[in-house]
Amino acid sequence: MDIIVLTPKATSKELKHIIRKLEAKGFKANVSRGTERTVIGVIGDTSKITEDETNAFGAMPGVEKIHRIIQPFKLASRDFKAKDTTFKVGRHTIGGKKIHVIAGPCAVENLPTLLKIGQEVHKAGATFIRGGAFKPRTSPYAFQGLGEEGLRYLAETRERTGMPVVTEIMDTRDMGVILKYADIIQIGARNMQNFRLLSEVGSHDKPIVLKRGLSATIKELLMAAEYIMAQGNNKVILCERGIRTFETATRNTLDLNAIPVLKKLSHLPVLVDPSHGAGRWDLVMPMAKAAVAAGADALMIEVHTMPEEALSDGEQSLKPDKFRLLMKELKAVARAVGRTI
Ligand code: PEP
Ligand code: MN
Repeated sequence: MDIIVLTPKATSKELKHIIRKLEAKGFKANVSRGTERTVIGVIGDTSKITEDETNAFGAMPGVEKIHRIIQPFKLASRDFKAKDTTFKVGRHTIGGKKIHVIAGPCAVENLPTLLKIGQEVHKAGATFIRGGAFKPRTSPYAFQGLGEEGLRYLAETRERTGMPVVTEIMDTRDMGVILKYADIIQIGARNMQNFRLLSEVGSHDKPIVLKRGLSATIKELLMAAEYIMAQGNNKVILCERGIRTFETATRNTLDLNAIPVLKKLSHLPVLVDPSHGAGRWDLVMPMAKAAVAAGADALMIEVHTMPEEALSDGEQSLKPDKFRLLMKELKAVARAVGRTI
């Protein structure tokens, strides 16, 4: 709440009342009387004003609208920290010049399949292995993941390939077991506003991939990041994975706008998941290239050796040969925008 615009008919009594309220909260009012309207500049540390307080001011007689200059998310905002956030995961730096590719199956299914996929994506240039052991499935009758057994297979794949592990947490009760195996913890789209889960992962030191909710705005995504950061964990990677729109030709609509918008509003690294964004393997390659061109710091790609037999998301998984080709093509796009991959 930084600028309060009064209605054209606001009376001087209403103006005085607003000023008194501001002063009672420790602010000074800078009143500017234009020919059409009166505008109040609020002087003081307005970052402490909550959204509820802003709304209450907005409802006062004589107030037309309120502009906030300071964003409601603070720790995640560029205003608060101008420089891009980078952090190390093992020997890799996230958020730097190098674009990291996180690849692997949607779900961990068995050890031989995961190992094979891990070796293939590693050879092609992926730097992180992904795979869900706790799966957020729409149907309770669909494959729910292998739980800790799946996490052990991920750890085994890390051992063999050297790739750190990215895996999803669905419930605060699994924090202990996830911490034991994961190098980066994923918060899935369906849990983006599970505030207890956000606070829980925020109170540990592990980097977090925070996926944008199915119908979350960019502001809501940044507020979710703020929940994590408010607990002291600044290692948050924001993930655009497509949003629900009226379009039915694709599973979701990959919001490429979100990449430059997030980079402008926040200092946090941005990851793009074209697999869930498009929902069809043949769209993953063009969307991955577009994401790199638009400034993504990392990509998450679902890969499976036998997509037709995958227990989840086979239709959007690339076969290893297509993934290899994609990595090759991405190199050229990355070079064109001054990055490496
Ligand atoms: C996933 O990464 O497999 C997944 C379930 O993603 P999302 O939460 O974006 O749907
Ligand atoms: Mn998936």
